[in-house]
Amino acid sequence: MAAAWARSQKRSSRNVAIAKTSQMPPRTFLATAAATGAGVLTWGATQQQQHQTRCDVDAASLAGGLVGGLAAGAVGGYMLGKSKADAVEAKYDKYWPRKIMLLFGAPGAGKGTQGEKIVDELDIPQLSTGDMLREAVAQGTAVGKRAKAVMEAGGLVSDDILIAMIAERIQAPDCSKGFILDGMPRTLVQAKAVDEMLAKTGENISLVMAFDVAPEILEERICGRWMHKASGRSFHVKFRPPKSMKLGPDGKPIPESMKDDETGEPLYQRADDTAEALKKRLKGYNDQTLPVLEHYRGKGIVRTVDAGKDMKAVWAEVSAKLVNK
Ligand code: AMP
Repeated sequence: MAAAWARSQKRSSRNVAIAKTSQMPPRTFLATAAATGAGVLTWGATQQQQHQTRCDVDAASLAGGLVGGLAAGAVGGYMLGKSKADAVEAKYDKYWPRKIMLLFGAPGAGKGTQGEKIVDELDIPQLSTGDMLREAVAQGTAVGKRAKAVMEAGGLVSDDILIAMIAERIQAPDCSKGFILDGMPRTLVQAKAVDEMLAKTGENISLVMAFDVAPEILEERICGRWMHKASGRSFHVKFRPPKSMKLGPDGKPIPESMKDDETGEPLYQRADDTAEALKKRLKGYNDQTLPVLEHYRGKGIVRTVDAGKDMKAVWAEVSAKLVNK
């Protein structure tokens, strides 16, 4: 679980930095800039007077003084702006609800791919229960040992494990402004448990982004998928080939050539990304997961996206539907 957590932590420190500057109200920024500018002008005028009376001041020392004054003004302005931004951020934390959204869709619908972009857009972490479980399996933890065989066969891991796992995860500091649930809740029991858990703190899921894809498209997407373990980035031999990909004489990618675009690290194929396991995963999705969508539809928070289109077109629809209207 450490890598999945570290991944969202990395994003979260970026979040804070961005939040601090972007949350600085325009008025504060202008006042700060005006005060800095006025200080520099007054200082400049005084300098000029002194220059007229004291002819021994040379151009170099005047220029040095000007640069020093500008730097001092900028630092002062920055500090003033920063403390205001900190105050605004503290108010956000205190009074504003967390943004809690759910990505909903069959395996291969594009939750991971689009989720990456939503994370960048909203600056809140994506909590993929599949990633957390895979990490637990890789680490050989007690949860991982219980989950491994079920996951490889494409079945569902027991609700009690998932509920405990997510309850702990959403308390981490990087979730303080919100989070994106991916792969959870996957059963009605989980949905009700998540609702109850959030209700304890007066919270609820406020947006369900449902990815709608015809089943015949899913097999091609799943069976051609390659993943980067540390980041959760996914590639596809046809739709998003890694730059390093080379094909063998049979027209299939050479496994050793499959490397992550950003880090150059090897990609891998998930043990459950096979046509056979997909059948079971889709059955579980239809029987146990689809009722979750109906549960949230009743609350008026579901927005459906046509996720059978290409990635760019899907993102255009997703980003338009992220906006509060
Ligand atoms: P995913 O990466 O979302 O496709 O999840 C991979 C596998 O992890 C699933 O096929 C399940 O075996 C397991 N899993 C992930 N999330 C859940 C969940 N909420 N409930 C039960 N099993 C889950």
